Amino acid sequence: MLQPRVGYQNLKDSYLFFGINQKIEAYRNHHPGAHLYRMGIGDVSLPLCDAVIRALHQAVDDQASRDHFHGYMPECGAPFLREAIARFYQDRDLPVTADEVFVSSGASDELGDLLDLFDVSSTALIMEPAYPAYVDANIMAGRKMVYLTAGPENDFLPLPDDRLQADLIYLCSPNNPTGAVCTCGHLQAWVDWANDRGAVILFDAAYEAFVSEDLPRSIFEIPGAESCAIEICSLSKTAGFTGTRLGYTVMPRKLVRQGMNLREMWIRNRTTKTNGVSYILQRGGAAVFTEEGQRQIYENIRVYKENARVLMRALDQAGIRYWGGKNAPYIWMKCPDGMGSWECFDLLLNEIQVVGTPGAGFGACGEGYFRLSTFGDPADTREAAGRLLKLWGKTT
Ligand code: PLP
Repeated sequence: MLQPRVGYQNLKDSYLFFGINQKIEAYRNHHPGAHLYRMGIGDVSLPLCDAVIRALHQAVDDQASRDHFHGYMPECGAPFLREAIARFYQDRDLPVTADEVFVSSGASDELGDLLDLFDVSSTALIMEPAYPAYVDANIMAGRKMVYLTAGPENDFLPLPDDRLQADLIYLCSPNNPTGAVCTCGHLQAWVDWANDRGAVILFDAAYEAFVSEDLPRSIFEIPGAESCAIEICSLSKTAGFTGTRLGYTVMPRKLVRQGMNLREMWIRNRTTKTNGVSYILQRGGAAVFTEEGQRQIYENIRVYKENARVLMRALDQAGIRYWGGKNAPYIWMKCPDGMGSWECFDLLLNEIQVVGTPGAGFGACGEGYFRLSTFGDPADTREAAGRLLKLWGKTT
């Protein structure tokens, strides 16, 4: 008799945002027409930039022309995009080559698919609070997980120690949900630990473009990373591709475990399991890496950073403790007055119509915290900041 994957039975009932949406729907049923200030889900609010839109239009026209039409694309990515991404690294003196770059349909898809490379007997290390997909993808696969707790005591950046035993290390910097950003020293500690033990780091750099201080944006800035790390990137938040879908992964050729070259395994995997990302999207993606594209995406990122500044100022004035916001599009706030994180969610929704994300949704140690996203509409963000200050400014 067919046995479905039993891991699915161990998944929690509902995905975090499903629970949030149910509460919002219930609120809307009682308050039809109410405007909500959405600082919850990390989805962008600004459209794709002009350089990308023009490239997408041009690519559609190519597909209408006998001379420029493209059929199946190379499974690992179009050379024009792989080369543009490699140059993006090389311009920062990081020696990534085009054949180490793999174009993907986004970081989520990739974070799930990459698990194909590792035996199910390997153990994954999750630093909580964490992006929920890390945990769920490993539960689905039936893989054992160990957890490290991030908290104010380590500035939400735990370090490895000698007792720790794990094979696959998830590192996310800038972090979702805490907004914490690893320093070079911190990443070096993990790289050394992974190289010593033959572990592999899955470095989620979905928010690298938000680093504005002198902090690492890529794990490949760290000596030794090329023999222990895979970097997973996304154009979702960097360039507004959440609904368009495009990402990339850097898999160095030096990454070898038990005599097996992971990059070669990944090529074999991609050529079997995908037929490449659409030509049109890859043309749009390539425009992000042009000078014009970079200038335009940073105009949008500046808007989100201004949202962060507005929210941080309100929290400062209200005397509420928070992390993130400076080099990350998330603000991780301590719920005031000892409130639980769902209690805080209900209070903000019902009293000031501000929607955030309860910290408990990112793991048990997120209880007592609350995540505010800075991807919202600027006018809504200003209003939400004013409402937060009015609610908490006098009481805390
Ligand atoms: N990784 C992290 C840490 C994220 O927060 C997200 C999306 O919110 C993703 C990956 C997924 O990105 P993508 O839209 O490219 O699938």
